[in-house]
Amino acid sequence: MPRAIVGYDRVRHVLDAEGESSYGDAVADKTGPAGLQARAVRFGYLDGTDVLHDVAFDVEPGRTVAVVGPTGSGKSTLVSLLVRLVDPASGAVLLDGVDVRDFRHGGVAASAALVPQQAFLFDDTVRDNITLGLDVSDDEVRAALATAQATEFVDRLPLGLDTQVGERGTSLSGGQRQRIALARALVRRPRLLVMDDATSAVDPRVEAAILAGLRDGGGGPSTVVVVAYRKATIALADEVVFIEDGRVTARGPHADLVTTSAGYRRLVDAYERAARDREQAEAVRAAEAADAARTGNAADADDADDADEEVPA
Ligand code: ADP
Ligand code: MG
Repeated sequence: MPRAIVGYDRVRHVLDAEGESSYGDAVADKTGPAGLQARAVRFGYLDGTDVLHDVAFDVEPGRTVAVVGPTGSGKSTLVSLLVRLVDPASGAVLLDGVDVRDFRHGGVAASAALVPQQAFLFDDTVRDNITLGLDVSDDEVRAALATAQATEFVDRLPLGLDTQVGERGTSLSGGQRQRIALARALVRRPRLLVMDDATSAVDPRVEAAILAGLRDGGGGPSTVVVVAYRKATIALADEVVFIEDGRVTARGPHADLVTTSAGYRRLVDAYERAARDREQAEAVRAAEAADAARTGNAADADDADDADEEVPA
């Protein structure tokens, strides 16, 4: 009883919290891919100077836009504004021409989904981690898993969709957790899908397959904003928004930016070199693990499977 009361008390505090966000009465009833606009967005965290200065760009419905920039340039902050986790200090984010602050409570969440940099999985089954209580059929869950390129490994789990993933999903690899988190977003059929470096631990070829599937409408018709590092991924986007120090300093198709922006070219080349180094290091690790497996050390061989997928940050 005492424990239940403490638990109830904590949950009630969350449910009763009023929060600081205010809502309007615009209804999110549109269908098809969403149009997105950032207009002169300025934002700073409470404890510091501005992180975003006068950020403006448009995304036409159905387009895929890559957000590229150095670490700390404000990419995660920007994407959290796009789905209204926070509000700008000035300027506005518009979804289908409506200021996101003017939607009813739940309106933005009904249209837009964010797959965050750090996927959080609950100590629950694969299915429940994807639905989070949403009333969807297993067919829909499977369709989301297919677009997230997760069908194969989920089918190999002991109980498939009914497999418990462990606390924070520890029984899965980083790349697998990311794909479950992506399926969680996709099953909601968002009209705007925002991915914040959400496939960093996924094998590059699998990542390309995910992006290609999204472009072909695998998650339902959607506009996609993706924070990305790999050249192959970036090149799949219709357009790139290049951010440095909280400002959009260049935008356009990847092929154009590499010739018009020296800063952009340097960054993408640096990412490319880092990726090659990592792949080489992994190849060495996999070879070592294969050796270990031959000499009968099965635990090391398991690590090699992981190394195939997990790219250390
Ligand atoms: P990126 O995703 O491009 O690496 P972020 O949006 O995470 O960049 O961060 C942009 C800047 O904002 C950085 O200087 C970072 O230190 C700062 N920042 C990010 N999150 C917070 C926070 N919750 N509180 C204070 N400062 C933050
Ligand atoms: Mg980030």
